[in-house]
Order: sequence, then structure tokens, then C-alpha cells
Amino acid sequence: TKSKITMTVIHQMELIGSNKIGVLPKRVEALQMCREIACEKDSHLNDSSFMLVDLDKIVDRYNLWKRELPMIEPFYAVKCNTDPVLVRILATLGCGFDCASKEEIDVVMDCGVAADRLIYANPCKTRSFIAHAMERDVRMMTFDNYEELLKVAEFHPNSEMILRIAVSDPTATCPLNLKFGCDPVTAAPKLLKQAHEEGVNVVGISFHVGSGCNDASAYRTALQHAKNLCEIGEGFGFKMNIIDMGGGFPGAEHSHNPFEKIAETIRDAIDEFFPDTDKRLIAEPGRFFAAGPFSLVANIIHATQVPASKITKNPADDAEPGFMYYINDGVYGSFNCILFDHAHPVGFPLFDVAENSPSMVSTIWGPTCDSLDLVEDKKLLPKMAVGDWLYYPDMGAYTLAAATTFNGFSKPVPMYVMTEEMWHKIRDSCHI
Ligand code: PLP
Repeated sequence: TKSKITMTVIHQMELIGSNKIGVLPKRVEALQMCREIACEKDSHLNDSSFMLVDLDKIVDRYNLWKRELPMIEPFYAVKCNTDPVLVRILATLGCGFDCASKEEIDVVMDCGVAADRLIYANPCKTRSFIAHAMERDVRMMTFDNYEELLKVAEFHPNSEMILRIAVSDPTATCPLNLKFGCDPVTAAPKLLKQAHEEGVNVVGISFHVGSGCNDASAYRTALQHAKNLCEIGEGFGFKMNIIDMGGGFPGAEHSHNPFEKIAETIRDAIDEFFPDTDKRLIAEPGRFFAAGPFSLVANIIHATQVPASKITKNPADDAEPGFMYYINDGVYGSFNCILFDHAHPVGFPLFDVAENSPSMVSTIWGPTCDSLDLVEDKKLLPKMAVGDWLYYPDMGAYTLAAATTFNGFSKPVPMYVMTEEMWHKIRDSCHI
């Protein structure tokens, strides 16, 4: 089908920060755009992997958030993907930012974001980073333990602290409360008292039900605790005016636990526990914004035929052909999400294959010399060849952020595209 690809005429190249953006006359599906880029690369014998970044999708996600949860200000969790164009576009749209380190604070503020749009959401902070937050006038910070209160009292007397409680969806893909969050019933009231005694200003309650939430009722439980704790905090004279609902929202468009359902549960819980509230409601979505706009395309750099039994581990498959493919991105690169984010990326051939091509059991390996570098196993694929491309959608969350160049293999190059219509809307403000 490569010969059938008609190339979209890229109207012009623009810059966001120092990053080149291809401006398209109209919306083009990510898959189609990736095919066009791959064709172009093939014509130059360029087989490096790339990440298509569809910037219009960031705006779609932002609009979806505003439609479903207009009362909650999103503070994008930068750890999820620190791509500078993603950060600038979200900043332009009016997003706040959740930062967890000095560097994340600097990345966001160096894009021109004001300190009052940041929350330093890490309950166990480095002392020098707290001092840095003070220097840059980032005030909102989280805590969940007494020792942190002492650090903050010493290094950031102007801070506005938000108490993080542990309320978990135990079925979330990545539970976070083993490490962070205090018990909302026993420890939290005590910490509010201790903050009062140490002269630290507490302004609200935060929680994170776990990344990749599967059971939205955890948000309701957490909001119920938040309501009680706000009353206790007010008893100590604190103005408890911030409720921070953390992350956990799905990133892929067609999630088994749709965002709309989670949003409905949250809206209902807000009506129940905070009716007519004048509190500032915020959240820290990460994968919600970052996953969908990024599509990864990797090249098959090697293919070996093996007995299928080598892959299935079933001697009965000995006579069947199986294939081991090696691609130029792996678990040391973007696919680190397999190890760190419990992700199961599913790729498919970028170009259609003949309808009657038989599927064969296959393994997809990353490029490094490590057997841990396994991307997909026991996968049914039509026969592929060296130089063919595999396409992995929804690859923006917890991928590039932790990717390395171990063994000398580069990370995929981001290729940014946006429509002319979007460029006209944001061009004057995306250099903030
Ligand atoms: N906030 C905090 C404090 C986090 O630790 C994380 C993820 O680890 C997030 C927000 C983002 O979570 P998600 O990507 O599930 O939205």
C-alpha cells in the first residue's frame, strides 16, 4: 500500500520554543501521518524510530477535561512526559503544573509559567529543592509526615501546604499509596495539629488514588475524607481552601474505564461533599494529557525465522515457523513503560499487509544486547521484513520521560504536527 500514500502538503514549518512544528492544512489521522513520514524516511534510507506528536490532540484532551470537569483546574503532572512542546501548549491553554523536583519546576517556569500555577507535589522533598521553590516563589507543596513539616518550616516559611492522604483504588495499574499519603483517619488529624504547632500554614487536602484508576469510587471515598479533614483543619484556624484530586485518569481514548464515567463519579461526589463550594478544586492528570498525542513508529532492524516452539515453548509447534523481530526501540527506550508503568503496548504493521497473509507467532525484541529487552511476546503477526515499520499508538505517558540511550540506541525523534487552524489560535500565546 506504500505506493498509494498521497503526501499531505505541509504548509509551513513554525517554531515552538526551539522545536520545529509542521503545520498541516487540515486534520490528518496520526496513522496516516506516520505512514507519510515513514515513506519519506524510506526514500532517504533513514530507518530511525520516531514519535509523531499530534498537537491538536492535546487541545482535544484539554477540551474534554473542560467539558467533563469544568470546576476542576488541571495541573499537568510533568513527570509523565516533559516534552517541551507538550508543556508549552498546555501552558498556553491555561493548565497548571504538578512538579516533583527542582528540575521539573525549572522546566515549567522556564516556559514562562508563573509560580502560582505550580504545585510542588512531592511529600518527601530534598532540602535544597525546597529552598529553590522558595526562591522561585512556588508556594503550594504537599506533605504527609511530620519530618517534612520541620524541613518546610526551616526552608520555606511562606509555603502553603497541602496534606496528602492515602486513599487507594487497590485495582489501579500503579498504586502509589505504599510510598505516599498518610492515613486519613488516624495520622492526618494529628499532622494538622502538628502543623499548627510548628507554625506551618496548611491550605488543603490532596490524594492520588493510583495511576490507571479502575474503580472511580476511590475518588468519592477520598473526597469524603477530604471534607472531614477540611473541617478539622479549619478548627486549627487553617483556611482549607484547596482540594487536590491527584491523577489516575485514563490516557487512551478508548479506555475500559472511560474518563467520562470517572468524571461523573467525581461530579456527584463534589455535589455531595462540597455543594456550593468556594474551594479551589484542582487535579494532577498526567497520562490523561500525555498518552494519546504520541504515536511511536519503530523500524524492524532484524528478522530471524525460528521454530514456533522456541516462542510458544510448546514442542508440538516445532514444525511451524515462528519469527523473532528486533526493532530500534525497546525497554531501555520508550518501552520502559513495560517495566515501570505495567504497560502492555500493542503494535501493528504500519502499512496494511495483503489480506490473505497468514499470521505467525512472533516475538518483538528491543535492540539492546539484553534478554530483558522484550517488547511483545507470542504475538501473531503476518510475515514482516527488515525495514518494515511497526506502529504503537498512545505512547506518550511514562515512555520518553524515563527512556535511556543504553547500548547506544537513540530515543525516537519527536515529529510535531498541528493544523493551521490550531496554529492560528495559539501562535501569539505559545511563546509565553
Ligand atoms: N500526581 C502525583 C503526585 C503522581 O505521583 C502522579 C503519578 O505518579 C501523578 C499526579 C500523575 O498520575 P496520572 O498519570 O495517573 O494522572
